[in-house]
Amino acid sequence: SSQDAATPIVIVGHVDHGKSTLIGRLLHDTDNLQEGKVAQIIESSKKRGLKIEWSFLLDSLQIERDQGVTVDSTRIPFLLGGREFVIVDAPGHRQFLRNMITGAADAEAAVLVVDAAEGAREQTRRHAMLLHLIGIRHVIVLLNKVDLLDFDQKKIEAVEQSVSELLGKLDLEAALFVPASARDGDNIASRSERMPWYDGPTLTEALAQVPSPASRANLPLRLPVQDVYRFNDKRYVAGRIERGRVRVGDTVIIGTQKTPARIASIESWHTAPQVAAVAGQSIAVTLEPDVIPDRGDLLHLREEPPVEASRIRTRLFWLRQEPLRVGESFKLRLATAEHAVTVTSIDSVLNLDDLTEQPGEEVPAEGFAEITLSASENVQFDPFVPGTADGRGVLVDRQQRIVGGAPLIGPAAIAAGEKVIH
Ligand code: GDP
Repeated sequence: SSQDAATPIVIVGHVDHGKSTLIGRLLHDTDNLQEGKVAQIIESSKKRGLKIEWSFLLDSLQIERDQGVTVDSTRIPFLLGGREFVIVDAPGHRQFLRNMITGAADAEAAVLVVDAAEGAREQTRRHAMLLHLIGIRHVIVLLNKVDLLDFDQKKIEAVEQSVSELLGKLDLEAALFVPASARDGDNIASRSERMPWYDGPTLTEALAQVPSPASRANLPLRLPVQDVYRFNDKRYVAGRIERGRVRVGDTVIIGTQKTPARIASIESWHTAPQVAAVAGQSIAVTLEPDVIPDRGDLLHLREEPPVEASRIRTRLFWLRQEPLRVGESFKLRLATAEHAVTVTSIDSVLNLDDLTEQPGEEVPAEGFAEITLSASENVQFDPFVPGTADGRGVLVDRQQRIVGGAPLIGPAAIAAGEKVIH
């Protein structure tokens, strides 16, 4: 059940502020490394004249991945007091950003690593903005390298103050600030003896306070159709339940055509036919009458319909190297659905330097904006809710490249007398 699922976390921060070091240190100090691994790190550190360089651990995990099957993201599992976490990491900046917006990360919490001697930098802002955009609720700020500030309370609190102001402007509230040294292990898994003035939690204590992913089984049913196939004279509609639950005998409504049908049976690969299934399960159902939904259709209950609109306001995190302009067309990918959309307006663009929002002609690379999309047909969706998978649209170009993350805000009005051009 989702109760037992691992809690995904992401670790972000400006380059060189200590992310890799932190991951190595965290895995080691929580006894999540095999013995051979530590020896290997010490060995490669020695070769470079270093005592122990924890960031090499990530390099060695990376090599293992490169030798194996190609996967986009690394998932590094670790146990903390019996509870399972998974660090979602990705090779390289761009792949990391892609993972964040496609929801591959789907993280419950984030650790924002800030070099206490340097303070917040450009990527600190960008990552913080991204955490806000994708709706991460629990942000732990790790003020790293406090050894460089001689563990001095006044100096550390001054950095905390300035980072806290930045996050406030981004509407992102940090759950906690933890002063730490990832290199030396202070306040990572054990309390630092060099900061007796600090009485807050260590990083692992802070992680232990992160709530487990909430159960999605009690929300309105959303079953996006992935595939329809025939087998033994029966037609099966297959998909993964995103939210809610479905029972044999339920009447579901199919997509924008709103065809009602009764669930005649529920089957899944490894089990006998079931009477019910819940969020997270991949199932195949048979329907009565034997209607044929399309891939992307959303099965839902009549009393709990999704929003339906052809014009949608969305937030946008723009990934392409060239700017985005009004009039460009894309595919909006939403769960298993793909809709042809055109950008009809750029309503506001965020200026990352002074954090003001203004209407603009274009959205720059890695920029944040609010835009309006026009689809050629009605789109069913649930508006984006922070901390959930709802409404997490993704824009893809003709080459099937992901060019933007687009959490959907809601329907946009079409002005009276306005011609809708698709
Ligand atoms: P990343 O780019 O964010 O992954 O940063 P790394 O983990 O590669 O660390 C960058 C540099 O900072 C490395 O030389 C680390 O040894 C160093 N570093 C990391 N944590 C600490 C710390 O707590 N104190 C000090 N003084 N240096 C650190």
